[in-house]
Amino acid sequence: MSYKLGEVILSRDTIARRVKEIASEITNDYSKNDSVLFVGILTGAAFFLTDLVRELPEDLDIKVDFMSVASYGSGTKSSGVVRIFHDLKGSIEGKHVIVVEDIVDSGLTLSHLLGILQQRNPASLKVCVLLDKYERRKTEVKVDYCGFRIPDKFVVGYGLDCANQWRHLKDIKYVIEE
Ligand code: 5GP
Repeated sequence: MSYKLGEVILSRDTIARRVKEIASEITNDYSKNDSVLFVGILTGAAFFLTDLVRELPEDLDIKVDFMSVASYGSGTKSSGVVRIFHDLKGSIEGKHVIVVEDIVDSGLTLSHLLGILQQRNPASLKVCVLLDKYERRKTEVKVDYCGFRIPDKFVVGYGLDCANQWRHLKDIKYVIEE
């Protein structure tokens, strides 16, 4: 099967505006005395996370780390496998943590990951996703900050890939199967 790019679902301007709004929601929710650790889930969320944290005020105490968790194979269908390939550098005990993910679909990846992180006793644990395919949820996940709710169609761009292709697109587009 081959894939080609379809129409734009979210333009770069729309994404940039929403990223700024989420940054101000986060700014309002934490005090200047808090230290907040942003945990990006590689690879897709790296793009969203780096834009997001640069919209936060300079006097907020922000740390950034990444984890690599895989649940998908090389195509557009879930493999059902959730594995940690790369873990955080340090302890999250007593820290305010925000997990940043590109997209929540079935919710299996995030709920698995949140279970692991919760066992490490953070002061708080929140979830920030750019895209939410809420119709596809198989397990409940509390999403604290959400960019956009989107329909059940495969998308790429702004970090999201299809077989590691098209992450670099500035806009988010649908993929058409041929
Ligand atoms: P979940 O465990 O919630 O089903 O899957 C989350 C992961 O599935 C995301 O991190 C992402 O890698 C992948 N995923 C789900 N839907 C899409 C989509 O429309 N486009 C892309 N590129 N990845 C998706």
